[in-house]
Amino acid sequence: MPKTLGMKCRECGEEYPLAPIHVCELCFGPLEVMLNWEEVSKKVSRKSIEAGPPSMWRYHDLIPVEGPPTVGLNVGFTPLVKATNLGKLLGLNNLYIKNDAVNHPTLSFKDRVVATALTKAREFGYDTVACASTGNLANSVAAHAAEGGFKSYIFIPFDLEQGKILGTLVYGTNLISVNGNYDEVNRMCAEAGGKYGWAFVNINLRPFYGDGSKTFGYEIAEQLGWRAPHHVVVPCAGGSLVSKIYKGFNELDRLGLLDGGVPTKMYAAQALGCSPITTAIKNKAEIFKPQKPNTIARSIAIGNPADGHVAIDTVRKSGGWAEDVTDEELIDGIKLLASTEGIFTETAGGVTVAVARKLAAQGRFEKDEIVVLAITGNGLKTQEAVAEHLGKPVLIQPNLTSLEQALNTERLLQSV
Ligand SMILES: *Cc1c(COP(=O)(O)O)cnc(C)c1O
Ligand SMILES: [Zn+2]
Repeated sequence: MPKTLGMKCRECGEEYPLAPIHVCELCFGPLEVMLNWEEVSKKVSRKSIEAGPPSMWRYHDLIPVEGPPTVGLNVGFTPLVKATNLGKLLGLNNLYIKNDAVNHPTLSFKDRVVATALTKAREFGYDTVACASTGNLANSVAAHAAEGGFKSYIFIPFDLEQGKILGTLVYGTNLISVNGNYDEVNRMCAEAGGKYGWAFVNINLRPFYGDGSKTFGYEIAEQLGWRAPHHVVVPCAGGSLVSKIYKGFNELDRLGLLDGGVPTKMYAAQALGCSPITTAIKNKAEIFKPQKPNTIARSIAIGNPADGHVAIDTVRKSGGWAEDVTDEELIDGIKLLASTEGIFTETAGGVTVAVARKLAAQGRFEKDEIVVLAITGNGLKTQEAVAEHLGKPVLIQPNLTSLEQALNTERLLQSV
């Protein structure tokens, strides 16, 4: 029996055979892959998972590919770090950082979705992969295409950070910089997908891509000793990750692998300059209003999120909430996580930390509850964001007199 039974519309329930498609022909709702739960529940146990490799593929039985992974075999199983110092500041005794800033190989959670999508692209028989990206997806598709021997075409808005551009070009891909914002890039790619017959990982392969994100949730639960946390704060772009983490917890619970069920409340975090999801949640609106992005948090600057409705629905159903922060606040968030926990995250992570601080101040977390922050990307890729906010190193001559003089200046004394 195959592991995957077909696809199903999340909105109207219409079913489709398994194929590289992502929207329902009847209602334009997003499609999801249907796992064969009868087969899956026979195979999966805590033991079977714990005996697996130290990567996202320890959950292979729950990832919608048929054969063994062929791309990205070392992705995932990143540290879940107990954040004692930051916790103290926020008044929380059980604060954790799920740290995908150190995900292998391209330092963001996107390696999870790409490993899944490219393994599936190979199963569908594609030799060319593509994506529309706000940066991290570009890095990851380029790297995994190189590893997997795919041709690749990657489309980005022209004004991305240097680190994201170099971190794509280095893998030898076809990088196409589009004079427009992400939503315009994405719209063009949706048309190109049909024309050229490429596997667009976040368009026609989106249902498979999205389920790669479930592993972020599986890992949190396993690393907490097989229990789901009380709260998870997640940065939202297209809106996929937040709902897939929640889906991951609920699947483990359905398999009877969790102690204490799924008490988890999910929180959406966005930058104020691009906040269609958080605005809708805070206004208790049924639908989100697309926005024109204006924020330095480029990686999550999607004004018309493909899974926006799913994200809003997930946050509501879970009893969570949403917040957004200014660019100034997100820069403070980056510095706060670095100076308390020694973790350098990118702009999206700064948003997550700053939003968590707001939510804590609103009294949304009990002090002993387990709170997890989804840190999804690495600060070395978005250095522009903090470059002007960190001061400069102190320059001295290579002798002790010069050192002594420097140590006597106010600036160094303050920092000792
Ligand atoms: C893509 C991305 C996100 C958001 O992912 P979605 O699933 O599109 O909501 C969050 N953080 C970082 C760093 C990203 O690159
Ligand atoms: Zn439908």
